[in-house]
Amino acid sequence: MTIDLPHKRVPIDEARALVIGAVRLLETESVPLSELAGRTLGATITAPHDLPAHANSAMDGYAVAARSTGPWTTSAQILAGDNPAPLAPATAAAIATGGVLPDGADAVIPIEQVVEADGTVTATGVVRTGDHVRPRGADVQKGDRVLLPGTRLSPLAVSAIAGLGLTEAVCIRRPRVAVLSTGDELVPPGMTLQRGQIHESNSVLVAATLIALGCEIVTIGSVADTADATHDAFAAAIGSADLVVSTGGVSVGPRDYVKPALHALNVTELFWRIATQPGQPVWCGSAPDGTLVAGLPGNPLSCLVGLHLLLAPAVRAMTGDTPEPVTIRASLAASITQLPSRLRAIPMLLRDGQLEQLGAGSSHQLSRAARANALALIPMGDGELLAGTLVDAVPLV
Ligand code: AMP
Ligand code: MG
Repeated sequence: MTIDLPHKRVPIDEARALVIGAVRLLETESVPLSELAGRTLGATITAPHDLPAHANSAMDGYAVAARSTGPWTTSAQILAGDNPAPLAPATAAAIATGGVLPDGADAVIPIEQVVEADGTVTATGVVRTGDHVRPRGADVQKGDRVLLPGTRLSPLAVSAIAGLGLTEAVCIRRPRVAVLSTGDELVPPGMTLQRGQIHESNSVLVAATLIALGCEIVTIGSVADTADATHDAFAAAIGSADLVVSTGGVSVGPRDYVKPALHALNVTELFWRIATQPGQPVWCGSAPDGTLVAGLPGNPLSCLVGLHLLLAPAVRAMTGDTPEPVTIRASLAASITQLPSRLRAIPMLLRDGQLEQLGAGSSHQLSRAARANALALIPMGDGELLAGTLVDAVPLV
C-alpha cells in the first residue's frame, strides 16, 4: 500500500514536535565512573558530604590565629594529606596548598606576604579571619544537588562526580539505533566503482553522528531496492532498536519501497515531507512497539538535515536531555537567497563568528560540504539575506 499525494510539507518545528512526542524516556542503569563521559544522567547527583570536607589552605604559607599578632615561631609543618594537631597558641604552622587548617588557626598568610627572620615569621600586612582559607563546604554542602537528571555528562561533570567520591552514577541507557541504507547503486568504500555505482556514505554519517550523541548502533545494513528486501530489513530492525533510521528510497521513484514497507508493518505515519531545502522527503512513523522509524532521503546533505533537525532531538528526548537543538547566532559571510516556503539548511564553516558558504549548492555535494561545522538555518522568505545578517546555526557534532 502506498500513501497518495498530495502530502503537505510539514514545518520543521511541527515535525520535530511530532518525533519528540513519539518517543519515550528510556530506562536507567548504573554506569561506572570510567564510562560516564558522554552519558546522560537519569538521577540527581547529590553531594554525599561537604566539599571541601575539611577547611584547608588556598595558598602555600603560614596558618595562624588572626587575632594573635606576630612575629610567630613556626611550630609545625602541614603538607597536603596530613591530619594536623591543633596549632600551638601564638605560633604559626607552615602549610602547603590543600593542607588541612589546624584547629586554633583561622587564617593563612601567603608565603609572599611574610618576612622570615631569626626563626620567626612576621606578616607584612593585616591578617583577617578567613584569609586564604577554603572553608569546609565552600564548594558544596552535604545534600546539595550538584547535577540534575537529563544532564549530558562532560569530562568536567564526570570529574566533579569523582571529586564527590562517587564511583558510579545512574544514567539513561544508551538509545539503540539500527541504520539501514537502501539503494542498488551503493557499494562499500574500498570497492572499485562500476559504471552507475556510488560509494555508500550515509550510514557512516548517521552512525557517527548518533554515536556522538550517546547512541549505540545495533545494526548497519544495506538493503536492495526490492519490496521484499525492504520489508524484511525493517521488520528485523524494528524489533532490535529504539530508533530505526533508513536512508534513500523514501521519495516517489519507481524503486522507493520504504513507505510501503513501513505501512505494511503497521508503522503509523507521523509525517512525510518537511518544509526544508534540502531534506524534504523525510518519512517518520511510530511502530506498534513504540520504535521511532525515520526514512531519511538518500542525498547525503538531505540526510544531514533530518539527522540534526529531527533525529538528534528525538535521541535527546529519549535520554531526558533538552530535545531542541542548541543554536548559535552567527553572521553570514556572504549574501544568500531565501526560499518562500522552505527553511534552507545549509552546511557552512563557522569561523571567527562568521558563517562561510562552502559552495555545496546541491544536496549531493558531500565533498564540498566536508569542512562544514555548522548547519546554517536560512528562514523562509522571499528576499535576499545580506552578508552580515545574523542567522541561527546548529553546530554539527
Ligand atoms: P534516493 O533517496 O534513494 O532516491 O537517493 C537519492 C540520491 O542519494 C541518489 O543519488 C542516491 O544514489 C544517493 N544515495 C542514496 N543512498 C545513499 C547512501 N547510502 N550513500 C550515499 N549516497 C546515497
Ligand atoms: Mg534509492
